[in-house]
Amino acid sequence: MEIGPNHRFKDVSYIESPNQSGPFAPELPDTIVIHYTAGASTESAIRTLCDRKRKVSAHLVVGRDGAVTQLLPFNIVGWHAGRSAWGERTSLNRYSIGIEIDNAGQLSERDGCYESWFGRTYPAEEVLHGTHRNHSEASYWHRYADEQLEVVEAICAALIQRYGIQYILGHEEIAPSRKIDPGPAFPLDSMRTRLYGSPLA
Ligand SMILES: [Zn+2]
Repeated sequence: MEIGPNHRFKDVSYIESPNQSGPFAPELPDTIVIHYTAGASTESAIRTLCDRKRKVSAHLVVGRDGAVTQLLPFNIVGWHAGRSAWGERTSLNRYSIGIEIDNAGQLSERDGCYESWFGRTYPAEEVLHGTHRNHSEASYWHRYADEQLEVVEAICAALIQRYGIQYILGHEEIAPSRKIDPGPAFPLDSMRTRLYGSPLA
């Protein structure tokens, strides 16, 4: 994954979202925030993230097949983190690049079927039974595709190299009272271990 002088990945489709603030302050961004879309398709996620009325955006969207779409250059502040805090920092949009991954999120089990909040059912092999880091009991989660996990790790490695990213965080870690993405199906701790040598954010 190669990043050009215009702060965009080369060979990646680009659709610019109008939902953006100005450039980052000097020395920033130094953080990546990982999200899932909790939606029905990559196309609908991109539509939402480019809709002025919705007032949300992200720098990148990763489809189920691993295809990447960039919506903002990496030097521009996006609107993905919302009310959030990490250490002494608040409003993490000012510090971070947002990556949205196409995934249905938490699923509910009924008679051996697993259903998303928008009513689609998923086969057992696409479902993980696991405990969220912010919860005490296990529940059901849509698995990420291997292609998605591979490309997200490659994206993070490229952003670390280009921008000196120091923190890779889940939305669930910076807004634990209101967000549960990317959830236990995303191997955040093992990815941080591979990239930084430690599972800790
Ligand atoms: Zn999120």
